[in-house]
Amino acid sequence: ASTTGAMRWTVHVEVRLKPRASSRFDTIRNLVHSYVTSFERLVLPSTLSGWEDIPELLSSVERISVCEAQCPTASLKMEEMVIQAHVYQPSDGDAFEEFSNSSGSRGEDDDTMAASICELPNRSYEGLWDSLIYAGDIKMKLLDYIHATLVLSDANVDFNLVSWNRVVLLHGPPGTGKTSLCRALGQKLAIRLSHRYSHARLLEINSHSLFSKWFSESGKLVQRLFNNITELVEEEDGFVVVLIDEVESLTAARAGAMAGTEPSDGLRVVNALLTQLDKLKTRKNVLIMATSNLVKAIDTAFVDRADIIQYVDLPSREAIYEILRTCLCEMILKGIVASVTIPTLKQVQMYELVSKVNGRSDVADGQERSRSIGLRLLALAFQCRKQGMSGRALRRLPVLALARYIGLGNVGLAPGPSSSSTQPTAGRSSP
Ligand code: ADP
Repeated sequence: ASTTGAMRWTVHVEVRLKPRASSRFDTIRNLVHSYVTSFERLVLPSTLSGWEDIPELLSSVERISVCEAQCPTASLKMEEMVIQAHVYQPSDGDAFEEFSNSSGSRGEDDDTMAASICELPNRSYEGLWDSLIYAGDIKMKLLDYIHATLVLSDANVDFNLVSWNRVVLLHGPPGTGKTSLCRALGQKLAIRLSHRYSHARLLEINSHSLFSKWFSESGKLVQRLFNNITELVEEEDGFVVVLIDEVESLTAARAGAMAGTEPSDGLRVVNALLTQLDKLKTRKNVLIMATSNLVKAIDTAFVDRADIIQYVDLPSREAIYEILRTCLCEMILKGIVASVTIPTLKQVQMYELVSKVNGRSDVADGQERSRSIGLRLLALAFQCRKQGMSGRALRRLPVLALARYIGLGNVGLAPGPSSSSTQPTAGRSSP
């Protein structure tokens, strides 16, 4: 939207408040807006500094970050942007409530909950979005989908002519971050929609325990769960994100029932689920996200209801490099690994290209160590890719590497997190 006709990008700026900040959200929003628009350019994404000089921001704000946008360049001039500042105060991590299997008749070992609920945005999901790294533009694609549904809802588009179900299905191998992505997306939405909704909640349904534990009761249970969801959704100033994890365990049942291999209880559960989903689709303030490791096992009637069916693959070599790089940077930041600059993906790709062409690169002496670590990390990423490692496996790789290093008798234990020690600790033998 531009008066000059030139393209302008919407850039979201997220402003996280300190735990007991007392300033008014709109005061902070206005201050941040004027502060951000005083820049000539912004790097996307980036964390801003310098706002600490403004006393009212200093007393209330914890962090100001500029989010990524779909623009083709890594930075934009101010006149190319429309800034949208979102001020939020995350709830504390432990604000979880749980739905039990039935009204008061829990058996002794029935401590698995069918569902849990938490307030969004939540402190425990801070940073999750940025930590998830994918080769394609999965994260932006999902955000754009939500944006599209909001535009259509706001315009009161006739549902008979254009319709959608508010259901997103993520599927792919285990450990590829599907559940985390749903939570992170819920968190993003809660932040971005905070001007429309006074609160947001994430309700996680554990299909596995819902279905397998109280098998014959499950139909009723789904009904009761969705009654709860409907109650939540009826508060029109609240936004509700429903996450149905491992949805295949719920819906495989119907196929089994039809083939005569499963009792009809399974059928009832799935039918209950589908009916309830259909009821929710006309509500503006709900989003349903389901994950599955096995899309073939999901009932086609469920798959059919998904507006987006997104395959989440094992990470590519480039995504692996970024995952390992962020692991390593964290270990450096916390003083466990000796300080060294790990090249960004773009830099290391450049080093790789140059060394393929020239045999070696012409980096300055100081950069040589950084270059060589980057190239080794890239080679390691290639090995991990060949083995088909998941994001989950990659994020624990540094733990195993450090354990092995300690096992070789190399390390006393790591210095405390506040240590600014420049002593090499575990840095030499890894990655
Ligand atoms: P899934 O639901 O696909 O089994 P999870 O969401 O449980 O996967 O992922 C577990 C953890 O693995 C995440 O919290 C994250 O730390 C890590 N992980 C998985 N995939 C990725 C990725 N693409 N980028 C970064 N971290 C990832």
